Amino acid sequence: MEYKKEPDQIKEENNNGSELRKISGDRAIWAAAAARAEERLKNLEKDNSQPVTGSENTVDTRTEPETINQPAENPGKPEDKEKKPEKNSRNKKKKTKEKRKKEKTRKTKENKKREKKKSRKKKKEQPGFFGRIGRKFVNGGAALVEFHDRIQGACDRFFASMGFSLVKEYDSVVRRYKRSSRQIYGSLFSMFIISCAMLLVFEHFTAYQYAYNGRVLGYVKSQNDVVNVLKVAGNKLSSSNKAHIKFTANDNIKMNKVSVFNRDMDTPDQVVNKLTYMTDIEVSAVAICQDGKLMTIVENQQAADDVIKRIKESYQTPNEGMKITKTDFETPVDTKEVQVMLTSVGSKGDALHDLTEGGTIEIRHIVNEGETVNSIAKEFNVSASDIKDMETGETVSKAESGSRVRIQKKIDPLKVITIEKGTTTETIPFETEEKQSADLYKDETYVQQEGADGRQAITGTITKENGKEIKRDISKKEVIKEPVKKIVLIGTKERPKTDPTGTFATPIRGASITSEFGARWGRMHEGIDYGAATGTPIYASDGGTVTLAGVYGGYGNCVEIKHSGGYSTRYGHMSRFAVSQGEKVYQGQVIGYVGNTGRSTGSHLHFEVRLNGVAQNPRNYV
Ligand SMILES: [Zn+2]
Repeated sequence: MEYKKEPDQIKEENNNGSELRKISGDRAIWAAAAARAEERLKNLEKDNSQPVTGSENTVDTRTEPETINQPAENPGKPEDKEKKPEKNSRNKKKKTKEKRKKEKTRKTKENKKREKKKSRKKKKEQPGFFGRIGRKFVNGGAALVEFHDRIQGACDRFFASMGFSLVKEYDSVVRRYKRSSRQIYGSLFSMFIISCAMLLVFEHFTAYQYAYNGRVLGYVKSQNDVVNVLKVAGNKLSSSNKAHIKFTANDNIKMNKVSVFNRDMDTPDQVVNKLTYMTDIEVSAVAICQDGKLMTIVENQQAADDVIKRIKESYQTPNEGMKITKTDFETPVDTKEVQVMLTSVGSKGDALHDLTEGGTIEIRHIVNEGETVNSIAKEFNVSASDIKDMETGETVSKAESGSRVRIQKKIDPLKVITIEKGTTTETIPFETEEKQSADLYKDETYVQQEGADGRQAITGTITKENGKEIKRDISKKEVIKEPVKKIVLIGTKERPKTDPTGTFATPIRGASITSEFGARWGRMHEGIDYGAATGTPIYASDGGTVTLAGVYGGYGNCVEIKHSGGYSTRYGHMSRFAVSQGEKVYQGQVIGYVGNTGRSTGSHLHFEVRLNGVAQNPRNYV
């Protein structure tokens, strides 16, 4: 039911209710629509002939707004009543009331329309689209000349506002040239061309200037042309200079948005080259000094502060139970700005290493105008003779501006003093006492008593230099466990001579002979056997030189000693050796221990005495 939307219109145009009833269905809708259109036209003509006054406008908007919504709240009611003829006076009254209401609403609507027209008229008086564009273009041009760096910002704002104008203006253009589509398209096309042209111009003007520590190196089209190659350039430069050089965007590498015209833009490859070839340039860096003496050079103040802080922090481990109450450098540490060549600038890691372990640094410097050998020596805290020419390596006698000098400098670790307070338990190391003993040969020692550490609790103050205790001030000490002294016996007895005595002694103590020399089970037994438990010591029968200490056929583990006069002795079936081949032994020295190795049926010592290699009966000698 389309016509329900504007019941007021229907009612006004069709005062005669019976006429409306005759027209039914679609025809009613069309008739109503036609009537509405006619009404609007009439109103428009009226508006144009009567100029709208300001007071009318304000009254309308102020007093009527609430009524605008009312017809929409009960749109169905009026129609029901119109279709059915009035049955009573009450209905009639209601009808007239609503009629008045609707009249009011219509008026409000017309006023609104008038308002719109008025604002449109106002717009026409403002500068047109092209006028505005022109003005902005002029403004943009002025900014381009005057504010070189800020041009892009201005352009951004310009385009933003132009985008807004375009949308706004499209609407107004369409309205104004309602009947001339050619004009609309013409102006829109012009707008498009101007936009494109300006975009092109400003695009060409925008570039990024890149600089290392304030030194401008060139221009690139996009920041990424620099950012993407920083790591590569840093690594390249670091490896070729044995230094750690890191390029960091927004830190030592800074980029500036600039507007340039007719300038060469660097490719990423050119950026890498420029960065890696600039070792020759002087940079501003920060030296860390102790007691006024230059210690090392890092890239900037922040790095220097960080290194100093980390060195202090590296000695922050107090003894258990203690608390560090003070940390300070032994002598004041400060920083100063120096002008050096890039390769003299070390990484934070290098600086930390040099300042904690000591080392040698090399400073390279391009002599500035007005500098002298003495002023350079003072600046870098070296003696004048330490300043060498970079090419020849010879001591520089006269500093010439622009020449390059090299200074090698040995540096000691920074001394950090920490003071810690509290109570801690610590080890009491045991003492070692040496006692002389006539029971042992000279060079022989014997641990008579093993040592054991003790433990004690101490309360007080400990001062450390670079983590090592240099001073303690103990107010209370309590021994928890006494240490046990280690006692070592040192032999004083003169060692016997290893020269043969010419007499033979029994090679074992407290053992009986279990097998004699001579024929045994149809075979010759070339020595005598002593029955003894495995591990019983075996002694050299006389002094001499060990000619064999190893496995020897049926003898098993066997030792042979050569004596004087063509004599030798042999000891078989040993469990282990106490001497080695080539060793000189004295009579009675332990050479090994009884065992059951080789052709043997039980633990025993087989002993032989030979003269010129021929076995003798040991019974004749021992
Ligand atoms: Zn035997």
